[in-house]
Amino acid sequence: MFNALARTLSPLAVPAAVLVAARMLLPAAAALPPGVGVWIPWGVLAVGALLAIAFSRGSVFFALVTLGLAFLAGRTWIAVAPDGWPAHTVFTAMCLFVPFNLALFALVRERGIFNGHGGNKSLLIALQVIVTAWIGLEHQAAPLELAAQPFLPDRLAPETPIPHAGLIMLAAAFGAVLAKALVRRSPIDVAVAGALYAFGVAADAAARPEAFATYLLAAALILAIGTVQDSYRMAFRDELTGLPSRRALNERLLGLGRRYAIAMLDVDHFKKFNDTHGHDVGDQVLRMVAAHLREVGGGGRAYRYGGEEFTVIFPRQSAEEALPHLEALRAAVEGYRMALRSADRPKRAQAGKRRRSPTSEARAVSVTISIGVAQRTDRHDTPDKVIRAADKALYRAKRAGRNRIARAG
Ligand code: GH3
Ligand code: MG
Ligand code: MG
Repeated sequence: MFNALARTLSPLAVPAAVLVAARMLLPAAAALPPGVGVWIPWGVLAVGALLAIAFSRGSVFFALVTLGLAFLAGRTWIAVAPDGWPAHTVFTAMCLFVPFNLALFALVRERGIFNGHGGNKSLLIALQVIVTAWIGLEHQAAPLELAAQPFLPDRLAPETPIPHAGLIMLAAAFGAVLAKALVRRSPIDVAVAGALYAFGVAADAAARPEAFATYLLAAALILAIGTVQDSYRMAFRDELTGLPSRRALNERLLGLGRRYAIAMLDVDHFKKFNDTHGHDVGDQVLRMVAAHLREVGGGGRAYRYGGEEFTVIFPRQSAEEALPHLEALRAAVEGYRMALRSADRPKRAQAGKRRRSPTSEARAVSVTISIGVAQRTDRHDTPDKVIRAADKALYRAKRAGRNRIARAG
């Protein structure tokens, strides 16, 4: 329970740390020479944008473009004459457009930067700039007053320069992105949620240029770090199952000590399972097996080796000590009944009227796994050799009838 909570909340650590650091560095930021105070945010925005280009992350790139424009507008108008008409216009516009854009770019599917989808996002941003410029240059009072209209009851309205519409936009954007972040656990969504929060703090402090700049910088930094975390995750995490990937396994093998056991697992008759139930149901089964593997005891750490094969490493354990945990895993997978949603069922089954009985609604599938386990010995003295020994044992488990564990002799 605590583990699950910690796992859900741990990605929030980076945005939280950056925000705390920004708060602590605020006095120092105010003391910086004006030139330096400007170039640091521009530098971070640029580095973030380059990272987003390198990893083809449109959600981050266009979020940074939006934040860059907000920063530029803030410096050009709000910092110069906070009470002027242009300042009111750009401030109101940024309080609405920045949260809207950040949330939109995070919630739509990631489709890169330099293509039609990126073009549409650029167009949206250009349109927002044009609308803002038109209101500002032409002194269009009506739309500005409408956007700046207070409508929250006094009792609910916090003390802030952010217009009520902007507050609602911020809250909705933050809530939606945070919800997606906690469900998907994607570092970029977490970063966008953090950046939205940082932007809210920046907008609240817009009258103080150094605070505005510091929190916008924090937003950009959070996005840049999220991009790096995301690419790391892509390289080391298997997309389908969420388990660490083969690459992560290879790195872990290099760090093993003199005492460890390695288990190789393989789903039984999985080709036939796919043929019977379809590849999508097969994928669901792999996710289910992975979920059990993640919970394996004895300090075991599971990896997706490839296809329907998995590896579990037990540092500082003998094969003997790993056995009961592997047996529990084998039994758990064997006993698990995975209910099929109707959409998962092959079309043929749905066509047959006979099958539309209540029992077929609750149709469930199950699979078994075979396991081979080996430990480091004088003969098998490298991880590669131990893996090969475990693989041989796995082969014996298969020949002996599957759904069982074999130990390297
Ligand atoms: P055995 O009991 O001997 O292991 O039989 P098997 O059919 O499981 O063995 P085999 O290695 O011949 O087949 C593995 C199958 O696993 C082939 C492929 O259809 C399936 N498979 C591999 N990767 C995936 C995947 O990512 N998703 C799905 N749905 N199936 C996969
Ligand atoms: Mg196989
Ligand atoms: Mg198999």
